[in-house]
Amino acid sequence: MAEITNQAAFQLPGVLYGGDYNPEQWTEDVWQEDVRLMQAAGVNCVSLGIFSWAKIEPQQGQYNFAWLDRVIDLLHTHGIRILLATATASPPPWFSHLHPESLPVDKHGLRYKPGSRQHYCPNNAAYRHAASALVTKIALRYGAHPAILMWHVNNEYACHIYECYCDTCRDHFRAWLQERYATIDALNESWGTAFWSQQYDQWEEIQLPHRTTTFVNPGQMLDYRRFMNASILSLFRGEIEAIRAAGAQQPMFTNMVFGLKWLDQYEWACYADYTAIDMYPDPSLGDQAWSSIAFAYDAIRSAKGNKPFLLLEQATTQVNWRAINQLKPPGMMRALSYQAIAHGADSVMFFQWRQSKAGAEKFHSGMIPLGGAADSRIFAEVSQLGAELKRLTDVVGSRVQTQVGLLFSYENVWALEIDSKPAQIDAMSAILPWHAALAQQNIPVDIVHPNSDFAGYRVLVAPLLYQMTESHAEKLRQFVREGGTLIVTYFSGITDARDHIWTGGYPALLHDVLGIKVEEWQPLLPDEVVEIIDQTGQRTQGQHWVDLLHPVTVEVLAHYNGGFFDQRAAITRNRFGSGQAYYVGTRPGAAYLHDFFCRICTEQSIHSLIDAGVGVEVSMRSGGANQYLFVINHTGTSQSVTLHGQKGIDLICEATIADQFSLEPYGVRIIRLPL
Ligand SMILES: [Zn+2]
Repeated sequence: MAEITNQAAFQLPGVLYGGDYNPEQWTEDVWQEDVRLMQAAGVNCVSLGIFSWAKIEPQQGQYNFAWLDRVIDLLHTHGIRILLATATASPPPWFSHLHPESLPVDKHGLRYKPGSRQHYCPNNAAYRHAASALVTKIALRYGAHPAILMWHVNNEYACHIYECYCDTCRDHFRAWLQERYATIDALNESWGTAFWSQQYDQWEEIQLPHRTTTFVNPGQMLDYRRFMNASILSLFRGEIEAIRAAGAQQPMFTNMVFGLKWLDQYEWACYADYTAIDMYPDPSLGDQAWSSIAFAYDAIRSAKGNKPFLLLEQATTQVNWRAINQLKPPGMMRALSYQAIAHGADSVMFFQWRQSKAGAEKFHSGMIPLGGAADSRIFAEVSQLGAELKRLTDVVGSRVQTQVGLLFSYENVWALEIDSKPAQIDAMSAILPWHAALAQQNIPVDIVHPNSDFAGYRVLVAPLLYQMTESHAEKLRQFVREGGTLIVTYFSGITDARDHIWTGGYPALLHDVLGIKVEEWQPLLPDEVVEIIDQTGQRTQGQHWVDLLHPVTVEVLAHYNGGFFDQRAAITRNRFGSGQAYYVGTRPGAAYLHDFFCRICTEQSIHSLIDAGVGVEVSMRSGGANQYLFVINHTGTSQSVTLHGQKGIDLICEATIADQFSLEPYGVRIIRLPL
């Protein structure tokens, strides 16, 4: 692991506040205005040099650091710390011209051209060599500069190029497979090549999963996903090694993109000192978006064992890359910024400091709009937030504590989305409703990898945990036996790590724990629903899927009503050891799922943090002698909030908070409570 040895001694100087700073787009007189306005806005930190490769190294091996020296000294003089980028995210034209083989190749065998960004094959030796040389130069020059707070490695890995089909990647894939399987027989067994006459005799016969006549071998596809994740991760590790070899000791991170599913964040987090995320919710979704944002924050926090993460990018208002790009109404940016902190972020950063006047993102908002800072709504909101965040220094380093975990892995997502299934599955849209049902009633949730330690959780939810190994099943068995409550949904426990189906009925490894056996399933059409009636007479409509299951030792809590499935069990509960395990063979309606989780959590003495209306999010961080209760109104209307007897001080307005209060549209309260 590459974590710095003095990590324990490292402290952030408060909540980091600022944005990507791209001074190479402006003349030096503008830099002077920049630092003045940064101070006015409460900016204490910028991410510098992310796309500066062409400016730093205008020709191969010829470096121009004079301008960067001046920028770094200017920021330092004005007390602004720097997340210094390694500048490798977009190779300059001279590099692509000298090394056309470095350009990635798409699934159809077409090589990309330069002219955009992220145009490099992750396995290309020339790119790796040039990136390493650049990073070494930068780290040697600035590693000891007191302004440098952290290293920002590359940028949004895999946001555009998450797979490459060039000959170099093919050769590396073969070598990776040889390392993994040792013998061609072992590969044949793992990929199930006895089917469709796919048996390989030599490693040289193996191709990447290019465009094929019909379905690619699923084992090959799954290994290709693992291989590309490993290839891109090795770029990250290579840059970390170059920084450390140059003697720089500051912590480092790379920023992941919201919703990106091609990189295994849990594995990447092992090599980063901080996890970091870029978050761009669509404002047009209004208060429909906040719970999916909450999932992404819970996931990035959980990836590094609940350590605070960095919100590295968001937009002050508008982006430029959707078909229609709407504004964030007044207050929404502030509310979404506090949402990140509420879920464990120790920074609020933007792309970018000053909006660009040219280039592909000139219509993307910045902290300073092109109309100027004066009389600007955006800059006024930015400055207000900057002033407020200075009052949150005590929150830095505090932790979110949960008793509920949602089991999730990227391998499971990759395996779920390989084609030739009972139905094409969009994994995230199938999994998110299970998180939303908890998040929307303000029950804190970790996003837990099945390999993680389950100690400390009272309830675990396993939505569509399709891939399940024997060790995952054994850990879940032990969790329930020792008193835990487990909820397993349809299409779980189907395959092993090779994507081979476990025989004997599903979920084969957990029959004893769940007390049921699934024989068949019916994926539902997009608008198709199946009615469910529970023991209390409550009705809901099952969506997405119906499992035909055989109850063995369970109590049937709900059954289907009508059709082929009439009177068959839909939801069951099994007592096992000191715990209990639920099985849900469909996706009940949102209101029913809300009540279902509410009953289970209440039984386990897990309660919503406070009572509040729909669209009000509540989260808690704990640290030192205090707890910090974040109450955020994600709606455009006032909402009433009732505290559960908590008496505390609002960190922003420094007033005592009443038991009941009205929260204005997009309003936020951060209430400090004694632990
Ligand atoms: Zn390639």
